[in-house]
Amino acid sequence: MEKYDVIIIGGGPAGLTCGITLASADGKFPFTKDKKYLLLYDEYSDLDKAYLKNVPGIEEIKGKELLEKIRKQASLFDSLTLRKAKVIKAYGEKGNFTVETEDNKVYKSDYIVIATGFHSFDIEGLDVEVIPHKKSPRPGKIMIKNVEGKVRDGLFVAGLVAGEITMYACASGSGAEVACDILSEWAGKIVVVHDVIEKE
Ligand SMILES: Cc1cc2nc3c(=O)[nH]c(=O)nc-3n(C[C@H](O)[C@H](O)[C@H](O)COP(=O)(O)OP(=O)(O)OC[C@H]3O[C@@H](n4cnc5c(N)ncnc54)[C@H](O)[C@@H]3O)c2cc1C
Repeated sequence: MEKYDVIIIGGGPAGLTCGITLASADGKFPFTKDKKYLLLYDEYSDLDKAYLKNVPGIEEIKGKELLEKIRKQASLFDSLTLRKAKVIKAYGEKGNFTVETEDNKVYKSDYIVIATGFHSFDIEGLDVEVIPHKKSPRPGKIMIKNVEGKVRDGLFVAGLVAGEITMYACASGSGAEVACDILSEWAGKIVVVHDVIEKE
């Protein structure tokens, strides 16, 4: 059975940013040595329908195209594996989570990050409280109750399912924040992942 340090469920802006931020810490800190991350994502992301003109740094872009670019960027990191598969069940506790997918694969992880958007939450086995979304412009959307991205030890939420407002930058930023929170736990102090221009 494949074992990962963190399994991220969801491949929209939140999940992908979380994965990229975690993987980009590889080689920068001793505590990220040999860490492995798995991102499992299902077919649809809200970005698929979007045409964006307000993502800083990008004049305008189709959401689908942006998603492809981020997936390509994510695939450049050796420590991050992306796999298309719907998660149907997850259970366990920090250090010993099990994640099951529709295609009958079973994975183990120390941490789970849920980044599944705000339409519904139907993954069985995780003891989470699903509540009405607090910032949705439309009724019927959901989020998982959390405190600053944490549901309980080892279990985090990011993006719309964490209660973020439905804007790309907010969903993505939430993914980065959860990644830094996990890295900070490993370090025992606040950690950010910055690259700087090499001196010539
Ligand atoms: C029509 C439209 C236009 C928009 N325009 C803009 C805009 O102009 N500017 C802007 O900033 N924002 C815009 N947005 C909002 C933006 O797209 C969302 O805020 C953002 O996509 C939310 O990111 P997320 O990662 O939280 O969720 P999502 O993007 O919804 O991603 C959720 C991910 O979780 C996966 N998933 C769900 N369940 C499972 C499961 N059981 N197993 C595995 N994977 C699962 C999904 O397949 C998906 O990969 C728009 C949205 C829409 C719908």
